[in-house]
Amino acid sequence: MPVMYSLLAIDHLKTWFPVRRGLFSRVAGHVRAVDGVSMSMEKGKTVGLVGESGCGKSTLARTIVGLEKATGGAIHFNGQNILSMSAHAMKPVRRNLQMVFQDPFSSLNPRMNVMDIITEGMVEHGMIRRRERKTEAVRLLQDVGMGPHALHRYPHEFSGGQRQRISIARALSLQPQLIICDEAVSALDVSIQAQVINLLMDLRDRHGLSYLFISHDLSVVRHIADTILVMYLGGIVEQGPAQAVIDTPLHPYTRALISAIPSMDGQSKNRLILHGDVPSPSHPPSGCRFHPRCPYATEQCAKQEPILTAENGDKQRQVACFHYTTIPPFQTTR
Ligand code: SF4
Repeated sequence: MPVMYSLLAIDHLKTWFPVRRGLFSRVAGHVRAVDGVSMSMEKGKTVGLVGESGCGKSTLARTIVGLEKATGGAIHFNGQNILSMSAHAMKPVRRNLQMVFQDPFSSLNPRMNVMDIITEGMVEHGMIRRRERKTEAVRLLQDVGMGPHALHRYPHEFSGGQRQRISIARALSLQPQLIICDEAVSALDVSIQAQVINLLMDLRDRHGLSYLFISHDLSVVRHIADTILVMYLGGIVEQGPAQAVIDTPLHPYTRALISAIPSMDGQSKNRLILHGDVPSPSHPPSGCRFHPRCPYATEQCAKQEPILTAENGDKQRQVACFHYTTIPPFQTTR
């Protein structure tokens, strides 16, 4: 029987940044941006990764695509640990792993026209010849709902939503298996957000794509994700099928994120409002990292770190909280 691999499997991944001090720039500590994250995703699925800004989502994304260096752990893509691969061996893997950033204006070269932007990678990877650029660019623009009139124009001539479509076309051009969307719709107006999300879902169905969709906003993620992972201060605190996480969140932090969406939580009796900011990842709190902000924290929470545990033996549904079975029930109203 052939061995079946997850498309992406991350195992105890750590990305720490040294904090240097003094005359000799000695390492005085570390910013633990990603601190022991494990997750996996299957082909054709969308995993939503949510959490407040500063919780490590973007660093996790940048580590997966090789823009940050991992401190420890493993990232398996199609069964191969890409952290141990040479730069040469990584080239075809990188083609399969593309990223769409939050700010298309800074991620698109202002001196290149749209045709060059979206076909540059194809030429570099030997997928097309230079003379085929125009035909391919027209096809890619059509894929993202834009016409050929855009070919010879420059990024500053487009609206935010159009620029994000161009970024998506550029990612698509390399025929990737996985696209990581890092706050890809966060800077757009609500109506444009919906259009871009619909486009992403349509492209997923047409091209069999997989997405790791990162957002601070659960109300956006719930529209597109099959599975939701909730991240807090460098670690995953809850994960499960998207509907289950939205309808019956188990971790107090997930409840707080849902409480921040007025339309979903209008009638909930157990609304949970978070106070303060995410603590610094260079000095994470002891025990459960959420305990200084958690209304249900006990002495045990300050001393011991809860690990991600399957709820009722269901490996799909996991939570890292000592007391999730005894805190007041929370049901969202949709
Ligand atoms: Fe709150 Fe304790 Fe659960 Fe952490 S382990 S989320 S502090 S109740």
